[in-house]
Amino acid sequence: MEKKKELHVAALENGTVIDHIPSDQVFKVVSLLEIQNLQTQVTIGYGLDSKKMGKKGILKIADKFFEEDEINRISLIAPSVKLNIIRDYEVVEKKLVHLPDELLGLVKCNNPKCISNCEPIKSNFKIIDKEAVTLKCHYCEMQTKKEDIVLL
Ligand SMILES: [Zn+2]
Repeated sequence: MEKKKELHVAALENGTVIDHIPSDQVFKVVSLLEIQNLQTQVTIGYGLDSKKMGKKGILKIADKFFEEDEINRISLIAPSVKLNIIRDYEVVEKKLVHLPDELLGLVKCNNPKCISNCEPIKSNFKIIDKEAVTLKCHYCEMQTKKEDIVLL
């Protein structure tokens, strides 16, 4: 019998495969998507060989299909991920993630005096530059560059 080398983990019957996650971001993606709270079967792989990325991570989540705005949250930390939607063991759809226009309750404002840091309200950022990933706080208008982004 021929062995399939790329098959590292069991195939999914129904669910979502998130592939091409930077290896060191796998657990951040897990917490952003709150995968640890799901009651379904989840396979986490990291440090896997990838021709394109060197090392990559992969998540296989059984019986879970993410909403667009749910999955787009991970575009901040893993912009090049690929999603495979699996139904009945077949890939029925492939998706890429896109930076949304605004981020609610996801990123901390770096201005300590910002109302979002002082009052129990959700942070709210507009993405003013999608290429460079520059955010602007809805409340205090302070801009945050990609390297300064702190996730809540
Ligand atoms: Zn602010």
